[in-house]
Amino acid sequence: MKAFKAVEHYFGKAADKLDLSSEMRQLMLTPKREIKVQIPIEMDDGTLRTFLGYRVQHDNSRGPMKGGLRYHHEVDLDEVRALSALMTWKTAVVDIPFGGAKGGINVDPSELSRKENQRLTRKFIDQIHEVIGPDTDIPAPDMGTNSETMAWMRNQYEKYHGFNPAVITGKPVEHYGAKGREEATGRGVGILTFKLLSRMQLKPKKTTVAIQGFGNVGFHAAKWLYECEFNIVAISDISGAYYCKDGINIAEALKYVLEGNNLDGFTGATKITNEELLALDVDILIPAAIGGVIHSGNASDVKASMIIEAANGPVDADADIILEKKEIVVLPDILANAGGVTVSYFEWVQNRQFYQWELDRIRQNLEAKLSQAFESVWQTSNEQHCDLRTAAYMVAIERVKQAASLAGI
Ligand code: NAD
Repeated sequence: MKAFKAVEHYFGKAADKLDLSSEMRQLMLTPKREIKVQIPIEMDDGTLRTFLGYRVQHDNSRGPMKGGLRYHHEVDLDEVRALSALMTWKTAVVDIPFGGAKGGINVDPSELSRKENQRLTRKFIDQIHEVIGPDTDIPAPDMGTNSETMAWMRNQYEKYHGFNPAVITGKPVEHYGAKGREEATGRGVGILTFKLLSRMQLKPKKTTVAIQGFGNVGFHAAKWLYECEFNIVAISDISGAYYCKDGINIAEALKYVLEGNNLDGFTGATKITNEELLALDVDILIPAAIGGVIHSGNASDVKASMIIEAANGPVDADADIILEKKEIVVLPDILANAGGVTVSYFEWVQNRQFYQWELDRIRQNLEAKLSQAFESVWQTSNEQHCDLRTAAYMVAIERVKQAASLAGI
């Protein structure tokens, strides 16, 4: 199923419960602006290659638009459009004064040298610098990009517009980045998993977890959960999945990936496939890699009783129906992985004030924001007798609708 269809499906369920008018539905599902640009670059061997880049600005009713830039070989307009809408709902659920946007380049970054990657990044900013800005649209990292990519972007943007650190978040700390931004999404996943577990009256030590993806989000989620004594029995990345029924020594796995590039060759567990990981008999499944991994073909194999959507869109709409019938509790992406954008907001605030917060303050504010968001979603779910995703969408849609109405459409 196409990514935007899934967003329409989830939005529709909440809109029905809110009795939202068809005019408002159309308005809220139509992005404000979609950009597709040509990015020609010279490769190291002197040949020319042309890539396609995208930026979709979905909604700015609640503030400047905000969302990551993804470098991945499957990036296309449909995916970016879906992710931009998710950003609108995500910033609304955690109640930070931003709208939603997303972008990316259709490229496999592992095939580029560092110099090629930098040329591609700068050329992309050449193509979109006029439509982004600290008061309009603020990019950030996503899959395939990192703090160094953000430093290149800021530098290229400033060649046109002068000193402007608040135009990009997720920058290195030495470049006006926020302390704790790197860990924020994974840490947020951990905080929210803990909150959900408490509501289920379960204890971390007795709770088994499988995590798909060991990049920025999966790595930091695993670290946090391990420190809280969850029993993480499986982890994975693009090289495969690694399972140990008595629990993986996550400290060893973290050290292993920091020394090498990925988990390939990790000996602290038995190697299984990523598909087998999704079907493990665990309490909590955390997809933290790519979208659409749980679909109609494998949803009925899922045995976990809770799914924490650390990745964006890991469960497609067909799978969602199957999981609901199986009474699996799903903590939706627009809440589960909102820690990153929340600390991005703190970074933007610091940049505007030329003041740097200490890590403790960032972590405390992150926990407070996510806890408030969790409580409002949990309460809505109980009051409206609906699943957590529908409740999260309801909270978000109400906030966006109110802001749009107050401004006078
Ligand atoms: P990343 O590039 O740092 O890591 C991705 C991980 O997934 C890697 O371990 C990679 O090996 C693995 N992977 C890739 N393809 C896979 C496949 N087919 N099967 C199994 N594993 C695979 O990316 P990230 O920043 O950790 O983002 C992961 C997800 O979280 C994405 O969906 C992203 O949109 C979402 N997300 C990220 C952030 C953030 O702050 N980085 C914020 C919100 C949401």
